[in-house]
Amino acid sequence: MVSPPLRGILFDLDDTLADSSGSEERIWEAVADVIAEHVPAVDRAELRRRYLDVLEGHYSELTAGRVDFHTFRRRRLADALSPWASVDDELFARYTDVKLRVIEELVPFPDAVATLRGLRALGLRLGVLTNGPSFLQRRKLEVSALGPELDAIAISGEIGAAKPDGAAFAAALALLGTAADETAMVGDSLENDVLGGLRAGLAAVVWMPGTREGELPPGAHLAREIAEVPRLLGLPAK
Ligand SMILES: [Mg+2]
Repeated sequence: MVSPPLRGILFDLDDTLADSSGSEERIWEAVADVIAEHVPAVDRAELRRRYLDVLEGHYSELTAGRVDFHTFRRRRLADALSPWASVDDELFARYTDVKLRVIEELVPFPDAVATLRGLRALGLRLGVLTNGPSFLQRRKLEVSALGPELDAIAISGEIGAAKPDGAAFAAALALLGTAADETAMVGDSLENDVLGGLRAGLAAVVWMPGTREGELPPGAHLAREIAEVPRLLGLPAK
């Protein structure tokens, strides 16, 4: 069976095109300072561990539409802080304020924009498929200046389906204007991006694990950085 040539690529946003974890890490000490002012007994190292550990469970409630962004944030903080204190309105307001910097100081990974431009120059259509609320993901695309580099923007909060659901991939492909068997998916999440993309029948799937651990599924490619993507997909590098 001959597969059609690649016409499009879908990218995940957080920790794939944009250095979201890096931004979060840079702001963390300021966040921890705010918390420690309100809760002097807090163990900062243990708080950090809990704060990261509880993220995924709460974020999946958010992307599934079971809670709104405000509730997600408050529950995540309350969960992380639960060994020491509960979260009152004043702490939550100050936390929300300092956390804004994670979004407002978001930057793309080095080579992300150059790689996108090189791929676009080859005539490929490029899109983002990201899980999250509309206002948040739109703001990230604006701040990081990635929006104008893309032909299609598919946000779970707007398309009504979230990765790894096949409906999310179908909606993103419809926005991109390409078929699954002529489109690749690139992302850092093994479940959402890689297994989701493989199950959705995409032509190729690239895993960019960053600091994540896991086993590369058969049929997927592994990239340590975004600049490797064109070569892995059999395309000329920029
Ligand atoms: Mg991601």
